[in-house]
Amino acid sequence: MDRFDAKSPAIGVLGGTFDPVHFGHLRPALEVMQQLNLEQMRLIPSSIPPHRQQPIASAKQRHQMLELAIKGLQGFVVDDRELHRSGPSYSVDTLRSLREQFPDNPLFFLVGSDAFQSIHSWSRWTELLTLAHLVVMQRPQQPGRLPDELDSWYHTHLANAADRSRAAGKIWPLTVTQMAVSATQIRRCFAEQRSARFLMPEVVISLIEQLGLYPSESSV
Ligand code: ATP
Repeated sequence: MDRFDAKSPAIGVLGGTFDPVHFGHLRPALEVMQQLNLEQMRLIPSSIPPHRQQPIASAKQRHQMLELAIKGLQGFVVDDRELHRSGPSYSVDTLRSLREQFPDNPLFFLVGSDAFQSIHSWSRWTELLTLAHLVVMQRPQQPGRLPDELDSWYHTHLANAADRSRAAGKIWPLTVTQMAVSATQIRRCFAEQRSARFLMPEVVISLIEQLGLYPSESSV
């Protein structure tokens, strides 16, 4: 794919609990970066995720794991803006703050296909596209048909090649290497004293062991 027409470099944004970060986050993010010629990929750990159970590892520990995971990885940045906000970490607020910081850059907000399936339950969800593009990364165990309301929104905003220079507003379904790994599966590995090697960076495994994170079934 050619470079963006826009003068400002394009930025990718992947939010998540990262409890812990694993190759299912890192490899698809890298592939999206390459497919869309993004200059930067910002990984944003959430403080209080609104749509799910609260993380086991503290915000500081999840941040530390991310920093270790991306060390030396060109273009990857850990962005801690959600950790400085009180209240639930709504993506729309995060994108608004990024848009203020980067007024002219194309912003690409990445979500797994599982998260996209229920995006219409997110706070002010239709505003997301006024602030950024949405990249839907195909995930193993594809969810079924999209709910009607979301299906029509999806088809109305599907991107084509000419949209590459826009700063926001389009939906980009992208195929990435399918990695059937989840943080839940990894927490279970640690809780059951099974190895998590080759599912995540070795340095992160070492830190989890050192901190004694995810010790029991209640960590899953
Ligand atoms: P958990 O198992 O605790 O629910 P998770 O592995 O889904 O966690 P999150 O930090 O909640 O990880 O995910 C952040 C984002 O990364 C979400 O948009 C999610 O869909 C996406 N994601 C996570 N794992 C994968 C994967 N294996 N392939 C593609 N996208 C993924």
